[in-house]
Amino acid sequence: MKVVFLDRDGTLIAEPPDKQIDSLDKLELIPGVVAGLRPLVEAGFELVMVTNQDGLGTKSFPRESFEMPQQKLLRLLEGEGIRFNSIFVCPHRPADQCNCRKPKTGMITEFLARNRIDLANSFVIGDRETDVEFAKNLGCRSVRLLTGEEASNADYAATSFRDACRFVLRGNRSGSLRRKANETTIDIRINLDGTGTYNVHTGIGFFDHMLTQLSKHSLIDMDISVKGDLDVDEHHTVEDTGLALGSAILQALDDKKGIERYGFLLPARLPDRHAGRGAVLQKLFGGRTDWHVGVPMDESLAKVALDIGGRPYLSFEGRFERERVGELPTELVEDFFRAFADGLRANLHISVEGRNDHHKIEAIFKSVARALKQAVSLDGRAPDILPTTKGTL
Ligand SMILES: [Mg+2]
Repeated sequence: MKVVFLDRDGTLIAEPPDKQIDSLDKLELIPGVVAGLRPLVEAGFELVMVTNQDGLGTKSFPRESFEMPQQKLLRLLEGEGIRFNSIFVCPHRPADQCNCRKPKTGMITEFLARNRIDLANSFVIGDRETDVEFAKNLGCRSVRLLTGEEASNADYAATSFRDACRFVLRGNRSGSLRRKANETTIDIRINLDGTGTYNVHTGIGFFDHMLTQLSKHSLIDMDISVKGDLDVDEHHTVEDTGLALGSAILQALDDKKGIERYGFLLPARLPDRHAGRGAVLQKLFGGRTDWHVGVPMDESLAKVALDIGGRPYLSFEGRFERERVGELPTELVEDFFRAFADGLRANLHISVEGRNDHHKIEAIFKSVARALKQAVSLDGRAPDILPTTKGTL
């Protein structure tokens, strides 16, 4: 079975300043707990509460004053269809040096032995770094609820409880691909829910620079290693990388449920409520409805629209004056994005204007990155819905 191990204080219920929830009036649910946990239960996760309660059963924290809010919490959640498979409480203090206090796993040793737990697909959700360590000790993944900018080693740092549960539901949306052909050997690992960290080596300096822009501005972590037949020319390396990268992203999207699907650049200078309203744009910008929609780079401007809808198509409008920028032949920019659209099975429209070819290419990559960030993001209002009327994407 797959399990979500849940911390209690600071995770399910608010932690009061004195850190001790010993009366009913201190009981306060964290927002999103019910809405977040219900889909996890429906998806077949077992819920297990694991909590440290310092000095429980002593004079300063009698068991009765713990049980009252605890039982109330359980009844409240049960009324919403949320039940815990098991509950484990460590009553010790750090000085007791017990074997059960998180991040140690002594409390659930027997539970682990009794049940067949699919640890690779199980998670810990908690608000402390000790919860993250607890997950590491168990060998499952960790989600930490952050309230500010704290650093964390968690697999995922969530900004809200619902966000945390959404991550658990999706798993880590990652893809990896190894593609070995006569001309190229490609290793790609990507994480859609990343932070835009990258490690890119294709042997073509300027191309590496562009791929890092794609990662940075889409927030998709990318690990790309390519060994191509550069002694012939750059074509295979660039095209095969595009195809493999698109395929890895498609793989990470899994069934595509809940994704935004479309990516485009909203008018930067208009409030959101005007987004997509052609008539308003017409009025405000005197008929020029397009100039502000795109990524500028000095005198260059790239415009991109993307639909990850299962129908590969590339429209590319733009001309380059130079044959190469750095070691990258400029004609391969279009070829890269055609292959990328094929791999991702996406409809990608790109147009670019400008004077400097370096600027034009960089504006395109950044623009595609922004559109991609939008299209692969999860729509919080429709986490389990496929954004199409056709039933398949
Ligand atoms: Mg806690």
